[in-house]
Amino acid sequence: MATPTETEALRSAYVAAREIMRANSVESAQQSVYTLCEALGAGHTSDVDGHPDAIPLDLALDDHGPVLPISADPAVQVLLTRYLVPAVADARLVAQRSLSSERLVTEATQDPLTGLWNRRSLELAINRTTTGDCIALLDLDHFKRVNDTGGHEAGDALLVTFAHYLRGAVRAQDIVGRLGGEEFVIVLPATRLVEACSTLHRIHQRWQEMAIFHVTFSVGVAPVEADPTTAETPGQSALRAADALMYRVKSTGRNRVACASP
Ligand code: GH3
Ligand code: MG
Ligand code: MG
Repeated sequence: MATPTETEALRSAYVAAREIMRANSVESAQQSVYTLCEALGAGHTSDVDGHPDAIPLDLALDDHGPVLPISADPAVQVLLTRYLVPAVADARLVAQRSLSSERLVTEATQDPLTGLWNRRSLELAINRTTTGDCIALLDLDHFKRVNDTGGHEAGDALLVTFAHYLRGAVRAQDIVGRLGGEEFVIVLPATRLVEACSTLHRIHQRWQEMAIFHVTFSVGVAPVEADPTTAETPGQSALRAADALMYRVKSTGRNRVACASP
């Protein structure tokens, strides 16, 4: 690798600094660091022990292990100290900023226990549904008994198991969220009522066969339909209809799927 002149090195450092400040992910900040390292005349390696010319300056922005520049040229080593060290420091700050904003988004939209969509993001999704979509509301039966007999930890474990089961039982485009407590919602975009009902029957049947804690659940399924008589969004009306159907199941013996009449 050729040793760059001082002017070339300075220009590369400016370009990298601009890229790093604009980076919106850890990966792009990392790439700018590697590009600058190469522009300054050095290679880089994650094989820390395998290179006699590896320089002890960690370029890695994540925690997957160190990545070190490689160069035997003392002039390059001077350039690395002058230009790469401050670039890595800036890139670390940018990476931290990007990670904490990702974390904020996750915290705002995800249910911390199950990893499903939380109530807030679910409500936004429900408000965006339109005619042709379906909404199902699921409520575990006598869930309180699980807490009472096995403790809150057993209750939490069941909620996590149920959430994973639901997520794995639907299509990628279906939204699965936890409305709160032991109440879950599945949004089925562009799905006819008859298909949504057969999906929920299948989910209900398979869960019963798995017999986890022998806990059952009740379901209401309703289509999203435009209703000019209400100020609610079509999604809110469908959720309310699914809720009413689910409560009818609760009051008539639980452990059943109730579908809206077509
Ligand atoms: P039903 O069949 O009528 O739905 O009865 P249920 O016992 O499932 O419903 P109920 O509303 O009487 O009780 C729900 C219980 O869920 C009460 C509450 O303590 C518990 N719960 C709510 N959120 C959580 C949670 O995050 N973890 C655990 N372990 N329990 C929770
Ligand atoms: Mg319940
Ligand atoms: Mg409930």
